[in-house]
Amino acid sequence: MEKALELISMGNVHKIVDAENRYVVEGKTSKYLVMLPDFCSCDHFVFRCLKEAKKVCYHILAAKHSNKPKSIENVDLIQFFIN
Ligand SMILES: [Zn+2]
Repeated sequence: MEKALELISMGNVHKIVDAENRYVVEGKTSKYLVMLPDFCSCDHFVFRCLKEAKKVCYHILAAKHSNKPKSIENVDLIQFFIN
């Protein structure tokens, strides 16, 4: 949770305009696509959390708890993952 709060306070949570519950969260080394309530594109989530159904990564926590996320225009997802 501490890491999630850090991301929020650094303004790293962006809500995608016109997409319900979709966020772009910038982590330390990369940025990730988060779809609430329970998906994130980071390795930790894909390899660990999906196996242990209840777990979420801190990107998801950050998106969930950010009450004033910045907005980001609809992102071109292919471009997003290339960058
Ligand atoms: Zn994540």
